[in-house]
Amino acid sequence: MANDTTTDSGVVETRDFIRDIVQADVEAKRTAEVVTRFPPEPNGYLHIGHAKSIALNFGVTQEFGGRCHLRFDDTNPTKEEQEYIDAIERDVRWLGFDWGQHLYHASDYFETLYGWAEHLIQAGKAYIDDQTADQIREMRGTLTEPGKNSPFRDRPVAENLDLFRRMRAGEFPNGARVLRAKIDMASGNINLRDPVLYRILHTAHPRTGTAWCIYPNYDFAHGQSDAIEGVTHSICTLEFEDHRPLYDWLIENLPVPSRPRQYEFARLNLGYTVLSKRVLTTLVRDGHVSGWDDPRMPTIAGIRRRGVPAAALREFVRRVGVARAYSIVDYAMFEAPIRELLNKSAPRRMAVLRPLKIVIENYPEDQVEQLEAVNNPEDPTAGSRLIPFRRELYVEQDDFMETPPKKFFRLSPGKEVRLRYAYFVTCREVVKDAAGKVVELRCTYDPASRGGNSPDGRKVQATLHWVTVADSVTAEVRLYNQLFTRPDPGASGDVFADINPDSLERLTDARAEPMLAGAPIGEAVQFERQGYFCLDTDSAPGHLVFNRTVGLRDTWAKVKAAG
Ligand code: ATP
Ligand code: MG
Repeated sequence: MANDTTTDSGVVETRDFIRDIVQADVEAKRTAEVVTRFPPEPNGYLHIGHAKSIALNFGVTQEFGGRCHLRFDDTNPTKEEQEYIDAIERDVRWLGFDWGQHLYHASDYFETLYGWAEHLIQAGKAYIDDQTADQIREMRGTLTEPGKNSPFRDRPVAENLDLFRRMRAGEFPNGARVLRAKIDMASGNINLRDPVLYRILHTAHPRTGTAWCIYPNYDFAHGQSDAIEGVTHSICTLEFEDHRPLYDWLIENLPVPSRPRQYEFARLNLGYTVLSKRVLTTLVRDGHVSGWDDPRMPTIAGIRRRGVPAAALREFVRRVGVARAYSIVDYAMFEAPIRELLNKSAPRRMAVLRPLKIVIENYPEDQVEQLEAVNNPEDPTAGSRLIPFRRELYVEQDDFMETPPKKFFRLSPGKEVRLRYAYFVTCREVVKDAAGKVVELRCTYDPASRGGNSPDGRKVQATLHWVTVADSVTAEVRLYNQLFTRPDPGASGDVFADINPDSLERLTDARAEPMLAGAPIGEAVQFERQGYFCLDTDSAPGHLVFNRTVGLRDTWAKVKAAG
């Protein structure tokens, strides 16, 4: 986990091995200006794992000076879409990072990369292979067996060059030929066994249109793009460690303008969460969720819509830290900074999620009082508001039990409780419908307890939230649970079999205090005793929809679970 030190000025500084490397390079003057990049492939939305990479790449250049580029790794037009490009830019900005003028695309370099491919051919270090993808795979060998040379490996330079130019000119169909680097089919590193550098793809590209029908693959585009942009520290996840020798080989064998170095760190894994783009794409495509920004999704768009502040997400990845060791982060660690931050900033409101009507028999029928309610006890500057109180109210169904166990301190027949900011009330009678369901409580109140304290000093053990029947507004409330039923989704063999059928609970008849009718979309509020919520984008005039961002710790739920 993060290795923090607090400086004299109170700033928390995070240290990790990447920052140590950068600092050493800066101090030894090996690096004049630190340049990093975040290089997403626009084939899906960004997720919480990307947030870690973004915060690392942008964070390092904020701390050591320099710049971080946003570069789209757009070398596979069959999977890439403008929608993803737009979403990625929006999400990086929302996270609080700015690439300034430094927005790039691997596709900006297609002409340069093509020239460098010809350079390799001319140097006898690349050749055109006519084998099929399957044949190439079969000849590649295994971890324990060396590969075999392609029959086309010793093609003369002139023939390679001619064929490569004709590939570019569109003379051959998809898959007919590829360009391969000529390195070593017996290498212990499979990535060095004559890797494919270019393939034929007769597919239009979102940026270059139909200008190209051959596209460089990731390995041929990535390091060279870094070199073109003057990237000094190319930071990526550990699965690219075995690609580093190829990265270095290409940099050494091409006339590139700079020499970037690659460093790898462990990717973020989060309990109960899947961060594979393939799986996330399927969840969206097959309708398991409402879209990429479904609040249950681990995407940045989903997290934002759910109501998580960007600062909480940044704080989460800071606490996780950067290391090389594999780990799965506990989901509670994601929720902690959200609660901490919203506790300080979110205004308190009252909303009853599952209403139970109570009638205060000794409260005058047509009376309404305006009671003062504190907006945020953690923030004195947040002030207070007035809320109406009347004879007919709603309280939470969970706050009543007809025959309560010992540790249940809330409403039950004969029991007195406090209504927040209002009065002490006592339950006198339980009204049931024909099916025996409790539909109403008849109560009395103590007029002397206005504001929530009794003059005789008698105590109550519970304080309940409430709203009035007449003034409250109806709302739909969406409660989210984990999208998967196990901390290691997919370990059963089928990740889709581990989808939680109860990940979304919709309460369509919640009642909220009147002020919530004017809540802005996305702005956090605390529903007292329930959790942090925000108005969802599905809201429409007259139809409020609230997302639960995160619950509060509920002491009764704990007692119940322990029992
Ligand atoms: P894929 O390559 O399967 O499309 P990806 O998640 O690797 O998916 P990229 O767009 O290639 O997506 O990722 C962009 C950057 O984000 C890469 O540098 C990658 O290493 C980093 N990244 C991706 N997933 C994580 C993760 N879980 N934790 C940290 N960094 C990640
Ligand atoms: Mg990737």
